[in-house]
Amino acid sequence: MTSATDTEVTTDVATAARALLAGELVAFPTETVWGLGALATDPSAIAKTYAAKGRPRDNPLIVHVADVGAALTLFLEWPGRAAAEAILRAFAPGPITVVIPRPPSLPADVSAGLETVGLRIPSHHVAQALLRAVNAPVAAPSANVSGRPSPTTRDGVLASLEGKIPLVLDGPRGEIGLESTVVDCTGDVPTLLRAGAVFVEALREVVPTLEVVADGEALARSPGTRHRHYAPTCRVHLVSSEARGLPPGARYETSAYIGLSSPSKEEPFCLVRVCASAEHYAHELFEFMRHADDAGAALLVCEEVPVAGIGLALMDRLRRAADVASP
Ligand code: AMP
Ligand code: MG
Repeated sequence: MTSATDTEVTTDVATAARALLAGELVAFPTETVWGLGALATDPSAIAKTYAAKGRPRDNPLIVHVADVGAALTLFLEWPGRAAAEAILRAFAPGPITVVIPRPPSLPADVSAGLETVGLRIPSHHVAQALLRAVNAPVAAPSANVSGRPSPTTRDGVLASLEGKIPLVLDGPRGEIGLESTVVDCTGDVPTLLRAGAVFVEALREVVPTLEVVADGEALARSPGTRHRHYAPTCRVHLVSSEARGLPPGARYETSAYIGLSSPSKEEPFCLVRVCASAEHYAHELFEFMRHADDAGAALLVCEEVPVAGIGLALMDRLRRAADVASP
C-alpha cells in the first residue's frame, strides 16, 4: 500500500528545526514520551497535528519552550502567576506542565479553543537542542495515533505515525516513560490535573496549597481525560501482588505479564517483563503494551503498585488502560 507521506528519520537538529519553521510536523524525543511537534504560532501546522493523530478537536495541545525565560515571555498578569512561575523555577526543565492563561501570541487552536494553555520545558537534550534551534514555541502532543499508548521509542513513533508525518528527529529514549505532571495554575488554588514524575509531595513543598482534582472534576478541567487513552489493542487486566492469576476464560499462551513480582514458573505467559522498581515499570509500560500487541497477545496482565511517588501516575495509566480495554 502506498502511504500519503514518506516519513524520514534524521539526527540533524537543524533539518528538524527548518521543517518545523516551515510549518511541517516533526516527532522528537523528550524525557517523558515522544512528542509530535508543530510550530505553535501557526494554525495550519496545528491543524496538521490534529489530522495526523486523529485527535479530537476538543483535546488541547501542550506548548513547549526551551527555558524559563522563554516561558515567562508567554506569561500574562493573573493571580496564579506566582505559583506557575515558582513551579517552573523549581522543576523545569523537566516533566512538568503548567496550565496558564493563553497569551494572544498563541492561537486558540493550540488549546482547542480554551482561554488557557499548557506550557512545558522538556529536559531531554535532543528536545532542548530542537527548541533552541527553532527559538519559538512548539506545540507537541504525544507522537501516537489518538487513543493509543504514548510512544517511548523511535520505533513506537514509526509504528503509530509512519506515512502520516514527514519527519522524525531521532534520539535516545527518555528516562521517564509516562506523560508529564499537569498543574492548573489559572485559578485561586493550583490543582493537579494529571499525575506524572513530578510528585504531589514535591509540588507541595513549592506550592503548599496544591489540590488534587477529584476524578469527576478532572473530566471538566482537563479535556484530554475525557478521551480514550493509554490503551493497547489487547485487553488489560489488573492484578494485586497477592493474586496474580488470570481472569476466567483467559489462557497463559495468549497473555502477557508486566509487574514488579515475577510470575511463578507454572505460569507460561507468552511475554513477561519483571521490573526492578516502580520507576522502571513506568519506563517500560507503554513500550511493553506495544510489544504485547505485536506478539498477538489477547490479554495484558499488569500487577498493581502502591499509590505513592511514581506509583500514583503509573496506577492512573494502568486504570485507564484497564477501564477502556476491559469488557
Ligand atoms: P498529551 O500531550 O497527549 O499528553 O495531552 C495533553 C493533555 O494535557 C491534554 O489531554 C489535557 O488533559 C492536558 N492539557 C493540555 N492543555 C490543557 C489546558 N489548557 N487545560 C487543561 N488541561 C490541559
Ligand atoms: Mg497523548
